[in-house]
Amino acid sequence: MKKSDLSNLAIKRLAIANRGEVAVRIIKACEELGIETVLLHSDADINSRAYRMADHKVCIGGSLPAESYLNIKSNVHGALAKNADAIHPGFGFLSENADFAQACTEAGLIFVGPSADAIRSLGDKVHCKELAKKCGIPLVPGYEGEDQSVEKLSQEAERIGYPVIVKAAAGGGGRGMKLITNLADARERIESAQRESLSAFGSAKVFLEKYLDRAKHIEFQVFGDSVGKVRHLFERECSVQRRHQKIIEEATSPSLTPELRRKMGEAAILIAQTAGYRSAGTVEFLFQDNEFYLLEVNTRLQVEHPVTEMVLGIDLVKAQILNACKNFIFSEDQYKSFQGHSIECRVYAENSYAGGMPSTGKLGHVYFPEGPGRRFEYGFEEGDVITSFYDPMIAKVIVWDESRPRAIQKMIEVLNQSIIFGVHTNIPYLKAILSHPEFIAGTMTTQFIGKYFAEPIKPPTRSTEMNAFIEEIKKAMTKPPVSKTSSMGEGYQNPWTEYWRIC
Ligand code: ADP
Repeated sequence: MKKSDLSNLAIKRLAIANRGEVAVRIIKACEELGIETVLLHSDADINSRAYRMADHKVCIGGSLPAESYLNIKSNVHGALAKNADAIHPGFGFLSENADFAQACTEAGLIFVGPSADAIRSLGDKVHCKELAKKCGIPLVPGYEGEDQSVEKLSQEAERIGYPVIVKAAAGGGGRGMKLITNLADARERIESAQRESLSAFGSAKVFLEKYLDRAKHIEFQVFGDSVGKVRHLFERECSVQRRHQKIIEEATSPSLTPELRRKMGEAAILIAQTAGYRSAGTVEFLFQDNEFYLLEVNTRLQVEHPVTEMVLGIDLVKAQILNACKNFIFSEDQYKSFQGHSIECRVYAENSYAGGMPSTGKLGHVYFPEGPGRRFEYGFEEGDVITSFYDPMIAKVIVWDESRPRAIQKMIEVLNQSIIFGVHTNIPYLKAILSHPEFIAGTMTTQFIGKYFAEPIKPPTRSTEMNAFIEEIKKAMTKPPVSKTSSMGEGYQNPWTEYWRIC
């Protein structure tokens, strides 16, 4: 886009109602568009990359999400206090909250995302299913009725046939879901899902679905442009999940034929177009035995959006911002085909060898090996503190290559070379998954992790020489780390005494 195209954008200063790597991602898009940024941050996020990068910052509350990132008023007030003319909600937190979108609009702020009405009709899982039925899009058999008594829900579970999954109507992030495998368990599982749903999402409403036990998770990126034309931007496969949360995503899916891709893409466009959808959204499907079923629609940017960007050469965040400025219109021949293959790994601060136990602390040296077809999205750098207040995802590693096998090979190599001192990471776990024959074959389903990685992975066995070397280091660690006489010079800190590296 030419500079002149950008000089008249309706957004001059954009507030970011988010944190971590997505806040950095939005800041970068704004820098390229010549838009100033205002970071709406919590107390805990003063030591973060986004905080250092944003043009303006406003502390909107305490470290607990409810005190800051989930507080609609604080976010709107913060944006207005710094004269922002728009808000980007990122993903998570308030990004799918229709009341937030409405509050922004009522305060005279442009909400970078779909309208509050579109969020209401698609973001609510039960409404979304009603719309899908009207559109004739296949759904997993289930029950979404108003009668929420445990007796009725148990009866419906019997009718649907086990296994059945009970889900929070207002749920998200893989929470509030319970599996029912027989009548004896039904009452307890339903009540527990209702309790969890009330405390996490403020509503006890649940619904039931037949549980598909060998399904793949395949989702379509959709985008409604400034003149209301909705396009799909191909699919991502996100079947590698732990506790219903994605860990590795790829574009495109290794399992779709062109015919299935066409059918699913058309269904995705149909539901988004029917809801008058603008901006970026994701239509999620379960895919089993060559049949697809609509799961839900996420009315926001998705964590895994970079893999779509890599195979299409689109910048979805810029597209969202330009679209909010009524300045983004698809041309007929744009984004009609994809190129090569892209994979994303979510890097979590957790101990791979202790079943994913969260790991918090101050980050030491961080190194990501740059190179062609490699992309690193991270919100924290050396010296920043990983706290237990938020999601433990500290970075995303994304690769692109000409074919899926080469992308897998590249990702393993990139993870091998990545260094994160100070906290444990799931990098060893990611490498084990990427090397598994079922992942390599591309046949994995959402059961993959439960089937092959239910137990913590084992630390690598070390040679006698390596053990002796480690013993030497441990001995050295009993000495003071800072030595004025060190050959490395004054103030040198031996990283082995300060941090540990586990990848
Ligand atoms: P959330 O909004 O909390 O992410 P989703 O409805 O998108 O919840 O489901 C998340 C994941 O849970 C899916 O990707 C899938 O792995 C699993 N899941 C959800 N519903 C079903 C179902 N009916 N059968 C099998 N797996 C399911």
